[in-house]
Amino acid sequence: MGSEPHQLHLIMIPFLAPGHLIPMADMAKKLAEQGVMITLITTPVSAARMKPVIDRAIAKSNLKIQLVQVPLPLHEFGLPEGCDSVDLVPSRNLLRSFFAALRELQKPIEQVVSELKPSPKCIIADKHLAWTAEIASKFRIPRVLFDGMSCFSLLCTHIIRKTQVHTSVPISIPFVVPGMPDHIEFTRNQLPADLYPNSEDDQDFHNKVREAEEGAYGFLVNSFEELESKYIEGYQKEKVSKTWCIGPVSLFNKTDFEVARRGNNMAATDEKQFTKWLDSWPKSSVVYACLGSVNRLLIPQMIELGLGLETSNRPFIWVVNVNDQQEEIENWILDSGFKERTKSRALLIYGWAPQVLILSHPSVGGFLTHCGWNSTLEGITCGKPMITWPMFAEQFYNQKLIVQILKVGESVGVKFVVQYGQEEKFGVLVFRKDIEEAIDKVMREGIEGEDRRERAERLGDTAKKAIEEGGSSYLNMKLFIEDIRKMDMS
Ligand code: UDP
Repeated sequence: MGSEPHQLHLIMIPFLAPGHLIPMADMAKKLAEQGVMITLITTPVSAARMKPVIDRAIAKSNLKIQLVQVPLPLHEFGLPEGCDSVDLVPSRNLLRSFFAALRELQKPIEQVVSELKPSPKCIIADKHLAWTAEIASKFRIPRVLFDGMSCFSLLCTHIIRKTQVHTSVPISIPFVVPGMPDHIEFTRNQLPADLYPNSEDDQDFHNKVREAEEGAYGFLVNSFEELESKYIEGYQKEKVSKTWCIGPVSLFNKTDFEVARRGNNMAATDEKQFTKWLDSWPKSSVVYACLGSVNRLLIPQMIELGLGLETSNRPFIWVVNVNDQQEEIENWILDSGFKERTKSRALLIYGWAPQVLILSHPSVGGFLTHCGWNSTLEGITCGKPMITWPMFAEQFYNQKLIVQILKVGESVGVKFVVQYGQEEKFGVLVFRKDIEEAIDKVMREGIEGEDRRERAERLGDTAKKAIEEGGSSYLNMKLFIEDIRKMDMS
């Protein structure tokens, strides 16, 4: 890859999970379009997931992006071949080994960085890779964090941590988050793992992440100012580090090819099949249900979801993906007669769905989501009302933003976090009736539903304007680049 003498060169190191990798890849393309040279460092499987879209961008627009692969030491940690992303870890018991292997990437990445030309001027690293702070300090370059959350979430966590307001209330009694621009309540067992850890290991991991966060130069946020201005302002006031809202990053993908293959390398025929199916339904009539890339719902819980979609009596797309229990749920779908009963109005996608392509279609009228931030923002960007089913991480925060603040969704009523890997402890929490009722509220005709839909559509329009020339995120991206460039000159 050739470079000019004053070429600004940035390194990006994503966390190994689709929800972190996908937005980083989107950002890489956009930064490269602005003339920045990007070296994206990741593992072979993650690189393969991004490669088709990145290669196309390089070929079409001559962008300066290189993908450098650093293998995870899988064998040393008893991990099977190919499991170099959280969603590919075959069993919950192996998660600890996965995180231990991840820690070992520091040295090989340092080796890569030492050989890069021109020398990079900044690391954009996922917040959860605390050891990237050591790389930044070794090469004396600033580290800008990306953690895949909204400013609403960042501010909630910051205030709760600072005030410790959650520690003096019983676990399931609501407390008010003090000093927030709106009246915001949570219970302790709705908080993300850094405030509600489920083990000492967990606590230790989050403590390291928090310590490493302190020295960061700033945060790149996948959000836009018009969506959560009060919270962005609030966060900027609280923190010393800079914040640039540059999203929604999903909109950095323009062509159908880019949108459909974002995060995955699907066969070309698939996307046409989905579009054709969606074309056959009226506007806003279809429910799209997808619970993210890493959920591990129990089979009985997945069955309730399927039955809730069935009893909603509406056309639906169900992304059936439970990783290590995939065969079991696929068997149930066939053996129970579910597939036969719903075949005239259901499209089942086993594995990976081209989510943004589906959400962009006018027939989709509601998005049943686990409230991961990418999915939440994609729902907002596509102007779709949401049915919210938060599970873990900061997903209860996102639900609050969707339902209470933006008023573009209804909850299925789940009350508390089930930490990743703890699903068996809690069993079925959401029943078909809950799902059916929440879908009905969002999809049925009437003033309440129409108002919600209009609000959602307006937000979608605003999101699109934010990344257009002169829009808030467009300008923030420029400010970010200028900021790093200035540091480079000094
Ligand atoms: N995604 C997708 N197809 C799927 C599942 C997920 O395209 O079948 C994408 C989705 O569009 C989003 C990301 O994967 O960009 C998931 O990120 P999110 O933060 O919503 O949730 P997570 O998977 O990290 O829990």
